[in-house]
Amino acid sequence: MPAEKFIPFARPTISPAAIAEVAACLRSGWLATGPRAAKFEEMLRAYFDTPHALCCVSATLGLWMALKALELQPGDEVITTPLTFVASLNTIVLAGGTPVLADVDRGTYNMDPAKVAAAITKRTRAIMPVHFAGCPVDLDAIYALAKKHRLRVVEDCAHAMGAEFKGRRVGSFGDVQVFSFHPNKNMTTGEGGCVVTRDAKLARRIEIQRFHGADRASWKTQPHPEGLSEFCVHVDTVEAGLKSNFMDLQAALGIHQLPALAGFNKKRGALAARYLQKLRGIPGLSLPAAPRYKHTHAWHLFTPVVERHAKVNRDTLIVELKKRQIGAGVHYIACHLLSFYQKNYGWRRGDFPVAESISDGILSLPLFPLLTLRDQDRVVRALREILG
Ligand SMILES: *Cc1c(COP(=O)(O)O)cnc(C)c1O
Repeated sequence: MPAEKFIPFARPTISPAAIAEVAACLRSGWLATGPRAAKFEEMLRAYFDTPHALCCVSATLGLWMALKALELQPGDEVITTPLTFVASLNTIVLAGGTPVLADVDRGTYNMDPAKVAAAITKRTRAIMPVHFAGCPVDLDAIYALAKKHRLRVVEDCAHAMGAEFKGRRVGSFGDVQVFSFHPNKNMTTGEGGCVVTRDAKLARRIEIQRFHGADRASWKTQPHPEGLSEFCVHVDTVEAGLKSNFMDLQAALGIHQLPALAGFNKKRGALAARYLQKLRGIPGLSLPAAPRYKHTHAWHLFTPVVERHAKVNRDTLIVELKKRQIGAGVHYIACHLLSFYQKNYGWRRGDFPVAESISDGILSLPLFPLLTLRDQDRVVRALREILG
């Protein structure tokens, strides 16, 4: 019998038109921030119906810039979830804040607003919800808390391109949202991210931070007498900034990915519905649950949990899947179990029991628009064989 081909857990869909656009960009000679980046940002502003969409090298830098723009003071707390990619916590630390964790809901794996409420102190400045796997957090509850306690909200939307909360697109309302265009995410620009906000002051601070601390807005109002172009020596530096600007090469992909996103997500949704149906009843495997409110799930990941009483544990299951040429990921080990956070924040196993029970058994099954039903059936069969 011929060896079966490997099924990865994620894989981007790149159209011939996108490849042609990248080639055209290369031939144009303009590779860094230029007309294609401007066009992609304009498309994102229209998509999110927002005045400000700032693309940058990654969602990690986007989160950091958004938090940095809040001017956190030492001791200022930002509440997030333990069940997230470590970038959520790292950026809080790097922006000068103190991460505080609120445990999650067992069904949706999203931060539990009641736990967030309980974690608010006099030092709380912001809440960072993470729409886990593309399932929208209860934003009504989060924004109600933010309003009551005068907090900022920075949504980690790395999984949430195309998600909707009660009929509204995630990113089209609220305070600040940060999206990722990493190749594993719902749409990609290679690496890349975008900060969306309706706050002009915050957008200006992010724009300054994005490019060397240069205040291009003030430069534009005072053109050089000899008409020198932008990026010349006469752009003033108003703070020490990093360099996180977006390349036209990345935008060349994004310009073609954004219009395809709805189709990608439709495929993801259909595959997720199929997993939910076909994996039901496998002993020791629990499936993600939907929130009660009206929503559109972006299905970035499909993440069942291997329960403690299952025939094999999660790590063994991943090894067994790999033997059958099937890739799986772990998203995520709860952040309070990571050594940097244990050492510096005193967190221990037992502190966030719901996140731990998920973290100990969670795995990400193959889910991407090009996954064939035949390959998905292979995944289902393998799970039944290993766990059944
Ligand atoms: C992927 C991811 C990020 C970081 O995105 P990059 O674009 O890779 O920097 C942040 N938060 C979450 C929850 C993610 O999944």
